[in-house]
Order: sequence, then C-alpha cells, then structure tokens
Amino acid sequence: MKSKSLLSHFLTLYVLLAFLAGIVVPSLSVWLGAAAFRNLQVQRRQLDLESLGESLTELYIEEGGVWNPGRVKDVLRPAPRWGGMRITLFDADNNEIYALKPLIMTHNNNDNHSRPESERITIQLGHDKIKNIGRLEIERHLPSGRYERSFISYLTRYNFIGALIMIAAACGLGFIVAGRLSRPVIRAIERTRNISRGEYDSNEQISPVGIRELDELTNCVEDLGRTLAGQENLRRRLMVDVAHELKTPLTVVRTQIEAIADGILEPTQERLNLCVNEMQRLGGLIQNVEALTRLEGESLIIHKEKTDMKKFLEPILESFMPLFETSNIALTSELENNIMCDIDSNKFRHVIDNLLSNAQRYTNSGGKVSVKLCRVNNRAFIQVSDTGIGIAEKDLPNIFERFYRTDESRTRITGGSGVGLAIVKASVEAHGGKISVTSQKDKGSTFTITLPVI
Ligand code: ADP
Repeated sequence: MKSKSLLSHFLTLYVLLAFLAGIVVPSLSVWLGAAAFRNLQVQRRQLDLESLGESLTELYIEEGGVWNPGRVKDVLRPAPRWGGMRITLFDADNNEIYALKPLIMTHNNNDNHSRPESERITIQLGHDKIKNIGRLEIERHLPSGRYERSFISYLTRYNFIGALIMIAAACGLGFIVAGRLSRPVIRAIERTRNISRGEYDSNEQISPVGIRELDELTNCVEDLGRTLAGQENLRRRLMVDVAHELKTPLTVVRTQIEAIADGILEPTQERLNLCVNEMQRLGGLIQNVEALTRLEGESLIIHKEKTDMKKFLEPILESFMPLFETSNIALTSELENNIMCDIDSNKFRHVIDNLLSNAQRYTNSGGKVSVKLCRVNNRAFIQVSDTGIGIAEKDLPNIFERFYRTDESRTRITGGSGVGLAIVKASVEAHGGKISVTSQKDKGSTFTITLPVI
C-alpha cells in the first residue's frame, strides 16, 4: 500500500469532517424539518376545514334544514386563510349552494414546480343525527411547497457558503495540526537516519512541541544517540588503551626472545622467568579488558528506580564491616534521612563497593574510612573519605582513566588493575551524576559523588 503523508491524512480527515458538519448534517436537518413542517400544515388545514364543516352543519340546523347561501357566505367569507383555495358547498342533491373563489390566483401551469399539493379535499357535512346534508369541496390553487422551497433554497445557499468557509478553515487547521505533529516525527526520522550513519551527536537545540508522546519520542531518539555515542566512544578509547597496555609486555618479551635467538643474550632461568611473568601479565590484562568491556558497556545501560539513599547505603556498609575490622580500619558513617535518587541499585552498589574496597586497600592498619550522605540544594552528595596513602597531585587527573595505577599502588600488592574507577565514573555519569576526588599524599583521599535528587 502506498503510504500517504501525515499532512494528506489530516487534510482528508478535516475536509471530510467539514463536509459532513457543513453540508450533510445541515441539509438533512433542513429537509427533514421542512417535511415535518409541511405535514404540520396539512394537519392544521384539515382541522380548520373540519371545524368549518361543523360550523356549516350548525348553520344548516339553525336554518331549519335548508341551505341559506347568504349566511353560508357569511361563514366562509371572514376566513382570509381560505384565500388560496376554492371552496364550494354542495347540497345533498349535488347542487352548488355557494362557491368561494380564491383571493390569490397563483396557479400557473407553465411553472413545473407549481403543481398543487392536494388537488381536491372533500368534507362530508352532517353528524350522527343529520346525515348527508351536503359536502364541501376544497380545491387548492396555491403552488405546493413554494414558500418551503424558497426557505430551503435560502438555507441551502447559506449552508453552502458556511460549508465552504468550514472547508477552508479545516484545510488551515489541518495544515497547522499536521505541521505540529509531523515536525517532531520528521526530526526523529532524520536523527535516526543520522544515527544509523554513525552521526550520534546532534548540536540542534530541540524545544518540546507540547505533545507528550511526541516529546517522549524525541527524547528517546536523543537518548539513543547519546547511548550509542557513549558506546562508540568507549569502544574507540578502549582500543587505544588496550593497544597501549599490550605493547609494553609484548615489547619486553619480544626483545628478550629476539636477543636470545640472535645469541646476544643467554637463555637464563631469570630471563625466561621474566618472559613468563610478562606473558602472565599479558593474560591478566586480556582478562581485564574482557571484564572492562562488559562492565563499562553494562554501566551505560541502567534501569533506574526511585531509591532512599540511606536505606540503600546502610546494608552495603554493614557488609563491609568484617573486612574493615580484620584490616583494623574504622568504618564510620553519617547518613541523612529521606534523600531520594533515581538509581539502578545493582550498578550503583558496584560503584560504592569499588570506592569502599579502594579505601580499604589504600589505607593502612589503624586508619579511618568515613562515608557521608547529605543533600545540598537539589543534589545528593555521597562522600567516601579515608586516611590512607593518598594520591600524588600529578596522578589525580588520571586516576579515572582505564588501567591507570599510581606508582604507589603498583608497588603495593593490592591485586588492582586500574579499571575500577573507570567503570565507577562511567556508571555515575550514566546516572546523570558526577564523581570527583580530592587527595593529599600520605594524608588520605575523598571521593565525592553528586547525584540529582528527585
Ligand atoms: P585499582 O584496581 O588499581 O584499584 P582503580 O581504578 O580502582 O584501580 O584505581 C586506580 C588507581 O587510583 C589505583 O591504582 C590507585 O593508584 C588510585 N586509588 C584509587 N583509590 C584510591 C584511594 N582511596 N587512595 C589512594 N589511591 C587510590
């Protein structure tokens, strides 16, 4: 089926509605109204004639059983409404007693429309006791429906003009409504087309049209673009980082083996162990890359739910207590009530887990870790502070980078690989939040997450 544009659909619908409302419905009501009006007139005329018949019967009785043309004339004359008819009174023997000629002679045989509606009406005179005293013959000369027709044509003319105005207005309205509806749809089509071509970002400022479903469609398409842009960015950066990380161990192993192969170096146990270690590091790195790709990718896909942040944090802190106790680090908290945020609890738990396990790993025995939750304006603040080894100023800008580890942590056996904070950052940003760090070497670090409050 050939698909038509939204505009032509709307125009067809509006014009159809205008036609129905402007022509069909009024015409029907005019025709039906006129028919009912005619019917009413016929009934009224019949009643009038019957009562005229009764008056004539009474006159007949009054006159002692004979027709007195003079008095008959008096009964018939005063009724000006008989003007359009010829009324003739006949006695029982069919003799004409009196004939009232019509005042207005409008009958015109050339006029096709002027055919009489009912040519002849006969009213038998008399009642139960005196039967068959004569009859009234009424002949109508007034062209039937003449006034009705002019009334109908008058109404039809104005209806027609009204309908034209309505159709014009409907076209105008159709244009406006279809334009308003189709604009965001066309934009969504263009955006999805661009997205499928790989142009994820749009600099266009989009203002809502005020139609909920369409505004949601626009927002969803923009979200789709942003998510894909994030994924694409992630993929690109990951490739660069991975290539960079793999290069070092590979170069070490290659140069060692080449030198051994060329006979420059002896294949000593020590050198071979170095190669094995580097290969193991390579294996570990590849595992980390796999985990990172999965986790960072997943952290962008979140299912948010309205969550009480205090109730969310308390069980996490509880679960970390034993670890902190065995490390002899004091874990304290200060959590404000009734701070509600839209979060994916699984993903956000991963964020807090990471910050707490880093705080535990990089804090010496006897140190302190404190968690604070508070609200400032419309944002929730979650702070994880420790009195640990701290981060050198030169490292601070890089610690959210993948595979970045400070020299301190490299020399420490922590089992870290430098990917945790990169995932934390991606996840917090996917929640519409931000993460920052302040730190002083040998004094401690504070990681602060801010999230929009709902
Ligand atoms: P890792 O798995 O190495 O801990 P992260 O991405 O979690 O990786 O952290 C990156 C680096 O940031 C760590 O190697 C460490 O050097 C530094 N870091 C993270 N948290 C802390 C902290 N609380 N105190 C000191 N240094 C930290």
